[in-house]
Amino acid sequence: MYRQRGGVGSRSEVGSVDRKRINDVLDKQLERSSPSTSRVIKAKDSSAQSILAAKLPYDHRDSHSASVFKNPEASDEESETDSEASDVSGSDGDDTSWISWFCNLRGNEFFCEVDDDYIQDDFNLCGLSSQVPYYDYALDLILDVESSHGDMFTEEQNELVESAAEMLYGLIHARYVLTNKGMAAMMEKYKNYDFGRCPRVYCSGQPCLPVGQSDIARSSTVKIYCPRCEDLYYPRSKYQGNVDGAYFGTTFPHLFLMTYGHLKPPKPSQSYVQRVFGFKVHKP
Ligand SMILES: [Zn+2]
Repeated sequence: MYRQRGGVGSRSEVGSVDRKRINDVLDKQLERSSPSTSRVIKAKDSSAQSILAAKLPYDHRDSHSASVFKNPEASDEESETDSEASDVSGSDGDDTSWISWFCNLRGNEFFCEVDDDYIQDDFNLCGLSSQVPYYDYALDLILDVESSHGDMFTEEQNELVESAAEMLYGLIHARYVLTNKGMAAMMEKYKNYDFGRCPRVYCSGQPCLPVGQSDIARSSTVKIYCPRCEDLYYPRSKYQGNVDGAYFGTTFPHLFLMTYGHLKPPKPSQSYVQRVFGFKVHKP
């Protein structure tokens, strides 16, 4: 009944029904008895993680979608935005932060890396604890806080916490991309064509933006929005197509284009004309 999740590199393709079931189980099992350790790390130096992000290897990305949607050099810039190299040793002996790891999983190319500072501000997470099971543990996982629950949890429970962390990160991400910093991070990805291009011929390869059709988790998968023809399409990668649309939200591309008005392309000047033997098809 639990979904099986492999180790590093795999990501969930569990259906919404399964997720619902998982969450029902979680709700029953969940006891919030153990205090979260996430508060402890408020003072943690978050710059170490952005340095890590800059050093993150890209070799485990999906090579297919990587070649379709981006060039590898370009993707390096996005994570260098705020890093001043110094010392990486503060990272629990792990090479990458959970956030970097998650954002580089195959299919998760649409996600930007949310700042630790943003996640550590309780105000920004308001209301999420009631939506996400194993909330405290999931939050610790996202922030790479060492906690003792690993010892007392079964393998299955650990998988459920991982799944919860994914959902929590997604819901935080949907809020973050509406902030200035979040939009700037998404701008970098937009410039790299990370969200893909409009498949419509007369949109001439217009770069797209991710969008959800609902802000409620598990309602629909993410779509891409073309600012030129103003329509929605499925992402090209089936892995991207499995990502929840609520992790991007219904507002993002539109607020993004209002914020960066110069990016709004003109409407397409051409439209397709149906012809039979060279004559326009008459439509009654
Ligand atoms: Zn288009």
